[in-house]
Amino acid sequence: MNTEKIDIISGDRQIGINKAADILKHGGIVAVPTETVYGLAASAFDDEAIKKVFIAKGRPQNNPLIVHIDDMKMLDAVAYDIPDTAKALAKRFWPGPLTMVLKKRDNIAKSVSAGLDTVAVRMPSSKDARDIISASGLPLAAPSANISGSPSPTTAKHVISDLDGRVDAIVLGDDCTVGVESTVVALFCTPPRLLRPGAVTAEQLRETLPDLVIDKAVLNEPKKGEAVASPGMLYKHYAPKTETFLVEGESDKFINLVSSKENAAAICFDEEFDKIPGKKIKYGKSTDKKALAKNLFSVLREVDTLKVNGVYIHAPEKSGMGLAVYNRLIRAAGFKVIKL
Ligand code: AMP
Ligand code: MG
Repeated sequence: MNTEKIDIISGDRQIGINKAADILKHGGIVAVPTETVYGLAASAFDDEAIKKVFIAKGRPQNNPLIVHIDDMKMLDAVAYDIPDTAKALAKRFWPGPLTMVLKKRDNIAKSVSAGLDTVAVRMPSSKDARDIISASGLPLAAPSANISGSPSPTTAKHVISDLDGRVDAIVLGDDCTVGVESTVVALFCTPPRLLRPGAVTAEQLRETLPDLVIDKAVLNEPKKGEAVASPGMLYKHYAPKTETFLVEGESDKFINLVSSKENAAAICFDEEFDKIPGKKIKYGKSTDKKALAKNLFSVLREVDTLKVNGVYIHAPEKSGMGLAVYNRLIRAAGFKVIKL
């Protein structure tokens, strides 16, 4: 397949947005920038188009997609029985990196929700994403625009490296400002449940949802055969090809560990960088969780260029956005965690 590159930075932005919308209206699949990660979009009403998304990504069929909307009218077109808590959260966090799982309307294509009777919905803050949704007039189902299992794409270059030749078009926009996928919270159930941590933190959600439960799968490996609320939590994910270990513990101990390993590399905090003798990549100051999140996926892609046998990543604290970073890292490490 010849993948059209739509450059909305050096090219005419409006023509590019319209072209992307046109492809989507005609059943095509298009990678688009959002503030979290790049998404691979298709009409949420078009089952054939959604199936193409699953094929292009090699995504397991039982892992449902998030539907992206541009205004509250679209919310009513995709979900019903919307609780007051969802309206309050929308008021506070939309547009932005928060996804709410609600009861699904029947007009949403079956494959979007992988057979579930719920739908995950989000209103992105990225102007590019919003303009493409509104130009198409469609709610757009969009998982991350990567090959399933690999680190999510936070730049147009990442998308090209994974999906060139597999999708109809790639919109070449800015790098993503958040860098990790949206927070996912289930609101169709009682008590409400955090399924995936993101830039909207559990602490912030609790101000509206005091009874919020954090799903076990956020921080732990689901047991074989165990039912999970969010199928996306089941998988080893975001993983470099190099064998990856997540390390929890103090700086000195982390530095000692990585210094003792042969033909290995470290992904460390900025303040540790100069103290590590071998191959290393830094991903932000330990206290700057926003930077860690923003750099995370680029760094995970860079690991494979180091040509080492193993990589040891220093885990951040699990509070605030650190929970989102930790959640991605345990999956990148295939749940191999070293506690020092
Ligand atoms: P991604 O598209 O890579 O951002 O992944 C979307 C995430 O949202 C996955 O973890 C899905 O399992 C989760 N998700 C989407 N729809 C639903 C739903 N209806 N119920 C529960 N989780 C969902
Ligand atoms: Mg993904």
